[in-house]
Amino acid sequence: MPWYKRLGGGLLLLGAILLSPYLAVPHYDFEQPHPFHGTSWYNPFIGDTLIWYLANFHIHSRAWKGLTNGYQEAPVIRRVYDSLGYTWIGISDYQSINPLSPIPLYEHGWNVGKVHQLCFGSEKVIWMDVPFWQGIQDKQWILSKLRPYTKLLVIAHPRFLGSYRGEELAKLGGYDAIEVLNRYGDSVAEWDSALSSGHFAPILAHDNLHDAYNPHEIMSRWTELLCPPNASLDSLQQAILAGKTVGYKNRTAFPVTQLYPKLAQVILKGDTLRVRLTLPADTLRLRGQQGSLRKEVYQSATIEYTVQPEDTYLRIEAITPQVEMYATPLVRGEPRRRNIPPSTFPHGTTLLYLVVVLVIGIIGWRWLGLPFPAKASIR
Ligand SMILES: [Zn+2]
Repeated sequence: MPWYKRLGGGLLLLGAILLSPYLAVPHYDFEQPHPFHGTSWYNPFIGDTLIWYLANFHIHSRAWKGLTNGYQEAPVIRRVYDSLGYTWIGISDYQSINPLSPIPLYEHGWNVGKVHQLCFGSEKVIWMDVPFWQGIQDKQWILSKLRPYTKLLVIAHPRFLGSYRGEELAKLGGYDAIEVLNRYGDSVAEWDSALSSGHFAPILAHDNLHDAYNPHEIMSRWTELLCPPNASLDSLQQAILAGKTVGYKNRTAFPVTQLYPKLAQVILKGDTLRVRLTLPADTLRLRGQQGSLRKEVYQSATIEYTVQPEDTYLRIEAITPQVEMYATPLVRGEPRRRNIPPSTFPHGTTLLYLVVVLVIGIIGWRWLGLPFPAKASIR
């Protein structure tokens, strides 16, 4: 058996193994987008004094013996973030829960399209993935595999390589939040698409840090949370689920040292929404369905708006020379989320994948010169 045939056989067999997850993907019946509705409103920022705490839950430490991109060990990373005044950090190594991370967390996904998820509070690491192209059915299937083992399931960086398109986030179910701001791609339009479909996805914003000593990486994006330092992990999770989060983007090349505006008060009384910031912003605006502009003011720390019957959600944006600020929206009715949709199996392409996997698997097996079971033993 020539070496190149053995190599080809090995590759074909590997291809058959890598394609086999496609065989297991069922057909999901996605529900139609159903914008937020109702007479009452849900406001995640109820309270007289809003006190914010810094957070970053997307950090890669040195893992897998340096095979993956990550330079420092967890204690070094913690020190660097402590020095910047962060309260909550989580190390999100690829396919591995770092025991030194203050929050049990990992980043799931080893496929070529960077379709990744941040899995908080997981009991175990799920290795199942769909390694090559992923359609909406494949993406839903992976979420269904992660869901039972993940307390808080976050869609990571949708814009990065277009891993999750807006129209997909408007149909997928079973996810809790979206990492809207990430150094590898900000996904505000994708977020609006999810929100417009009536899926309550609070914002998270992260450095996606790989090197804690690189000033261009650290504090490039961050989350501010209404969750005090000594709260339990359960309370942290509840705060994120309830949408008590604001995402920030640094517009400069180095960590922000000046004070920047934060939400001081968000009050909805009758049909009047009043927002007050701690400092004036150059632009302060409200956006609604599909990201449409509802109101905009300049050089102001306050904005007042009369809610219109067609408003489904309202989110606050503020821009200064240093930062962009994006708050989780207030939504009409309940902050509902779609569950994993009902599914049927097999579906249209299952048979096609089965034929492809069998054909290349058998050819690979033969080229490797591996024995086939004798007819007698089959009988
Ligand atoms: Zn990622």
